[in-house]
Amino acid sequence: MNNQNRVNKLNLYSPSSTPSPFQKDPSAMEPYKCSEMDEWGPEKILQVYDPDTGMKGVLVIDNTATGPGKGGIRFAESVTPSEVFRLARTMTWKCASAGLPFGGAKGGIIANPNKVNKVEWIKSFAKMIKPYCPTQYIAATDVGTTELDMAVFAHEIGDMHSCTGKPQELGGIPHELGTTGYGVSVALRTTIDFLKEIKRKEIKTSKPLTNLYNEVDTKNRELKVVIQGFGNVGSFTAKFLNEINIKVIGVSDVSGFLYHNQGLDIPQLMNDMREKDKLSELSDIQKKHNYNILDKDEIFDVDADIFIPAALTGVINDNTASRLLDHNVKIIVEAANIPTTQTADQYLIDNGMLIIPDFLANSGGVIGSFVEYQGRTEKEAFDLIQYKITNNVRNALYNSIRMDDSQTESSNVDVRRAAMEISKQIVYRAMLLRKGAINVAREAYARKERVIY
Ligand code: NAD
Repeated sequence: MNNQNRVNKLNLYSPSSTPSPFQKDPSAMEPYKCSEMDEWGPEKILQVYDPDTGMKGVLVIDNTATGPGKGGIRFAESVTPSEVFRLARTMTWKCASAGLPFGGAKGGIIANPNKVNKVEWIKSFAKMIKPYCPTQYIAATDVGTTELDMAVFAHEIGDMHSCTGKPQELGGIPHELGTTGYGVSVALRTTIDFLKEIKRKEIKTSKPLTNLYNEVDTKNRELKVVIQGFGNVGSFTAKFLNEINIKVIGVSDVSGFLYHNQGLDIPQLMNDMREKDKLSELSDIQKKHNYNILDKDEIFDVDADIFIPAALTGVINDNTASRLLDHNVKIIVEAANIPTTQTADQYLIDNGMLIIPDFLANSGGVIGSFVEYQGRTEKEAFDLIQYKITNNVRNALYNSIRMDDSQTESSNVDVRRAAMEISKQIVYRAMLLRKGAINVAREAYARKERVIY
């Protein structure tokens, strides 16, 4: 047998016949934009590709001054390095505002998890980023990943501290217990209590807030909530709001918007959804209660007091913001990460909307992760979430009405900016300490000065 025949028989690799996946689809792995780097980070951007499995992924470690970067692994076709960076940055502020010894990071795997061998891809991603876990990166679940993926990830890294959100059998406190949704419900309840308190104590504040607490006070339990997204975060938010008698009148998912202006039967809905994938498949409950099933985007077109985005990034934007105002929405509690675009955020604040930002409202998951990391119990996780989110939301609300000393009847309340200032001070002091500038950091802390700007 001549050499060429032997090669053909063994079916060996021929470079010319196997095009690179990047040549096939260059957009699937767009490079990270260095223009996004600033005084906070990101410290590391790792773009990985495994030619054996085809796995493409990104790890962004944004800032580790307060501890190893913490953040979930998002598994979706739409993942880009830029998106992973923005999510990692949100984690930097979230961990700082929650006072946890973690920094900010995020992972991303670029594919539809239902169209690839998920276990192989998670293993492959874990193998690629292993040198950084858990010293600089501690993973968790995110959109497209579950507790089962965390089990595979932890075993591949060979360290149970490499991720949180693991199954209970591995000492985990899975996000599937609803820690994030519980935190969102605590954030909303704290906001309502705060509005009542400033009325009771007659604290001087701006006009929109005055209107808002008058509404809240007179309506009390009649407040109506709609939730976009009925996955892990949205469904548990609904469950825990229902338990504290806050009425959920509508929930949406990718298939539609289930709505009844007198409120939905949330326990039954949660129960029915155990056997279904989509809200549009729930014909029994619809018929029994006479619920409407509308187009998913009609969630922006019904009268409600509170809107909770718990699905995608950027859904509150130039097209949808004014629809929320037109339908009397007064409070937005951001359960999803980065659901509001910058321009919509400013427009809504200018028009008197009270927005509880994502990194405060959805920090229940990462607080639960911290408890898991310490090897403590589920009960301790729920207790700590309640304690921290109540304090953090109250602090941010107080700071937001104090921030502008010249508050007039027309000024507005920017809770995101107030909460961000608190987080930035914490991270900046940690960065000074890392540099060895301990005296500067202590002085700044003692004076509680604004160290930035
Ligand atoms: P999930 O995949 O469990 O649920 C997402 C839900 O959104 C599903 O019900 C889906 O049908 C729905 N959805 C998708 N597109 C939609 C659309 N166009 N309109 C309406 N609904 C739509 O995800 P999750 O874990 O609940 O996460 C939701 C959001 O919360 C994400 O932004 C995530 O980053 C953020 N978050 C999650 C956690 C957590 O612990 N899971 C923690 C913090 C933040």
